[in-house]
Amino acid sequence: MNFHVMTLFPEMIEQAMAVSITGRAVKAGHISVNAVNIRDYAANKHNRVDDYPYGGGAGMVMQAEPVYRCYQDIMEQYSENGLPKKIKVIYLSPQGKVFSQRMAQEYADEDDLIFLCGHYEGIDERVLEEIVTDYVSIGDYVLTGGELPALVMMDAISRLVPGVLNNNLSAQTESFSESLLEYPQYTRPEEWNGKKVPPVLLSGNHKLLAEWYREQSLRRTACCRPDLLENAELSQAEWAFVQEIISKEGSDR
Ligand code: SAM
Repeated sequence: MNFHVMTLFPEMIEQAMAVSITGRAVKAGHISVNAVNIRDYAANKHNRVDDYPYGGGAGMVMQAEPVYRCYQDIMEQYSENGLPKKIKVIYLSPQGKVFSQRMAQEYADEDDLIFLCGHYEGIDERVLEEIVTDYVSIGDYVLTGGELPALVMMDAISRLVPGVLNNNLSAQTESFSESLLEYPQYTRPEEWNGKKVPPVLLSGNHKLLAEWYREQSLRRTACCRPDLLENAELSQAEWAFVQEIISKEGSDR
């Protein structure tokens, strides 16, 4: 997976992606991160890339031309039989489709992705119309720039790229993977602060363990995120179980 990030702050992307699991994945060659500074494509001596919005209003707007030239430069390496390869260009925007685990899975199937990070009031609409294929938001709030959203997306996508996690199974059992939240986790010691690990986890009985994981997932989802259950595949007995929890405990934890 090759990530390209068009940004005014490449160091933010490089530094964050160079540590922990993503850092190891870069070193191992499972992912690559190419942060490109849009400012390098400014055509004026002060390297300005923003200007006042037409029609007035607060703030500044990033200009179309430096963004377009930056994009063209990235695309230069992608030419198949003289035709440009089709690569998704994701504009991080609070106006986009809200990012989800399902979208992370879909993007993880791509070989290359280009992220476009806005700043100030955003980017001139005309270049967005020209190059952007997907508009993605990370939630209903407004940030100062698209770098953190791009990092959030790259992190979530990277861990679904084969080889990035030591144990690929862990991504399959995690929260949202079946529209359910994950069961609670415990590690050593067996007793901490007077609290014991649930005995079933020490039983070594795989059938009992699987039942316990499933029950805990259902319980958690019913308590914390009952909205997810709409898309979950549950047996009749499981539906009855979650309905009982919702009516007993309410949906707030
Ligand atoms: N004026 C824009 C609006 O009202 O839709 C908001 C611009 S915001 C201050 C600057 C940049 O931050 C955006 O261009 C976008 O790249 C990024 N951004 C802010 N909030 C975001 C969010 N929730 N998800 C994704 N990107 C976001």
